[in-house]
Amino acid sequence: LFGSSFIFYLISKIFFFFFEHSSCHDSLTSVYNRSQFDLDIKEEIDRYERNKREFSLLIMDIDHFKKVNDTYGHEIGDKVLAEVAEILKQNTRTDDVVARVGGEEYAIMFQDITSEQALEIIKRIKSTIENNSFMIDKKNYLNVTISAGLCSLHHLPEKIDKIYEYADTALYYSKNNGRNIISIFNPVTGEVNIAKCA
Ligand code: GH3
Ligand code: MG
Ligand code: MG
Repeated sequence: LFGSSFIFYLISKIFFFFFEHSSCHDSLTSVYNRSQFDLDIKEEIDRYERNKREFSLLIMDIDHFKKVNDTYGHEIGDKVLAEVAEILKQNTRTDDVVARVGGEEYAIMFQDITSEQALEIIKRIKSTIENNSFMIDKKNYLNVTISAGLCSLHHLPEKIDKIYEYADTALYYSKNNGRNIISIFNPVTGEVNIAKCA
């Protein structure tokens, strides 16, 4: 009797693990999905209101990704999406939350980090992606660039629920100003500026 109930326990644990994993994670890239990311942001906002620690949100989108699909096919496109997610995981700490929030759009939430530190990480991610050769077949590679929007909040509890909107505004600023750049939304002035040497 003990043996069979133990096996049942084990099977239910395994099922539960896979169910929970698939409801929080994007199946193509295995980073968090949009709904889990939204929950994590809410949790971080609560934490921020209690502790007043600085936190940053990055949203980034692959430039002209439709062309990658059109030129090399959807399957290669999928491989690029998964590899980009891998680069994001390798260049962030375990405390940072990495998610795929749209087709070729990703977001990262940086906790307990200054805006300067967040910007340095984003610059590194951007150049790593830009310099990465994505394999098409044994002989051919392709390159992609990204556009990004960043918003960092510090001592601005009344504006924190707008952080996603702010980072998104900065991303569109990057797209509208030629792509392949990082823009920063300033929540105090409402201005958007392009980051230097990005
Ligand atoms: P922009 O620089 O303005 O972002 O241009 P874009 O071509 O990247 O953007 P657009 O929104 O025109 O196209 C996004 C493309 O991303 C279109 C869609 O086919 C592709 N896409 C979205 N999700 C997936 C996916 O899961 N797999 C693949 N292979 N492609 C995807
Ligand atoms: Mg795009
Ligand atoms: Mg997009």
